[in-house]
Amino acid sequence: MSALRQKTPWQIALGELGALREQEPMSRHTTLAVGGPARWFFRPTDRQALLTAVSLCPPDLSILPLGRGSNMLIPDGGLDSLVVDLSDLNELTFDGYNVRAGAGVRMSRFARLCAEHGLSGCEFLATVPGSIGGGVMMNAGAFAQQLSDTLVTVEVLMRSGEVREMKAVELGMSYRHSQLPEQSIVLVAEFVLHPDHPDHVRERMRTMRRRRSATQPLTLPNCGSVFKNPPGDHAARLIEAAGLKGLAIGGARISEQHANFIVNEGEASSADIVALIGRIRREVKERFDIELEPEVRMLGEWL
Ligand SMILES: Cc1cc2nc3c(=O)[nH]c(=O)nc-3n(C[C@H](O)[C@H](O)[C@H](O)COP(=O)(O)OP(=O)(O)OC[C@H]3O[C@@H](n4cnc5c(N)ncnc54)[C@H](O)[C@@H]3O)c2cc1C
Repeated sequence: MSALRQKTPWQIALGELGALREQEPMSRHTTLAVGGPARWFFRPTDRQALLTAVSLCPPDLSILPLGRGSNMLIPDGGLDSLVVDLSDLNELTFDGYNVRAGAGVRMSRFARLCAEHGLSGCEFLATVPGSIGGGVMMNAGAFAQQLSDTLVTVEVLMRSGEVREMKAVELGMSYRHSQLPEQSIVLVAEFVLHPDHPDHVRERMRTMRRRRSATQPLTLPNCGSVFKNPPGDHAARLIEAAGLKGLAIGGARISEQHANFIVNEGEASSADIVALIGRIRREVKERFDIELEPEVRMLGEWL
């Protein structure tokens, strides 16, 4: 008879502060629908539960914040980390032109409610499937808008347990990039938008959504643009010019509809996707002498 494994005190405590699971398949939590198990997967019930949990975790346990998993690639072998699902940090408050959003607020909900309040500046978020926390981390953007245009402050939880308020300018935000402190978690982000008629804001959002569904392969699992656009060019154009559109490795394919998208046709592994990423980078470098930089965050250990 196998001995029952004893839970340690921090595991028992986290189980009371939210839902704690062991060996949780990350394929359930990423829009690419790939990724092996997270050693620990924790969904705190609220902000205070998260703060308490982080202070109780052993300092050598790496913590990985999870938004909607729409820009992450996790190895098939999984992650030896505590993945923290921030979905329940979802408070959204409006005060004049200021909007405060919890890290777990979906960007599409944020955009919809800003429109209802007659606030403009974040319409593009209607087309981005992530969370506010992931959006800040990535400086999400589209249609010539990006989060750093309207972000004023963030509250971040440091690995030490300290909560720090930081101004957006301290985050070194640029194209799809921010410099959050190491191992920190965005708790709240505050934005200042500008007034406009709700109908006009909604109309711009509708136009953006229509353009997206006409140009992107949104019916198959994907992570949006796989590569950042290099200065003065488009990754999709380069991949197509390299003759790679439609190329498949295992269950992963470079989309016929948009060459900067890799889609999971059903049975893809993370290894298939990484192999395609490597192939694209090699061919584009050989043909055009351009290094494509992945936009998708490749987390964990890649051998
Ligand atoms: C169909 C599709 C279309 C897309 N279109 C766009 C687009 O137009 N523009 C664009 O910019 N992106 C786009 N993306 C990519 C993606 O949606 C964005 O990068 C988004 O900002 C990721 O948010 P997320 O919550 O899913 O982050 P996740 O994928 O969960 O996480 C991404 C990274 O952020 C970290 N992170 C998450 N939450 C926090 C937090 N609270 N604190 C600190 N770090 C955190 C994670 O650890 C990880 O390193 C698209 C993706 C898809 C699938």
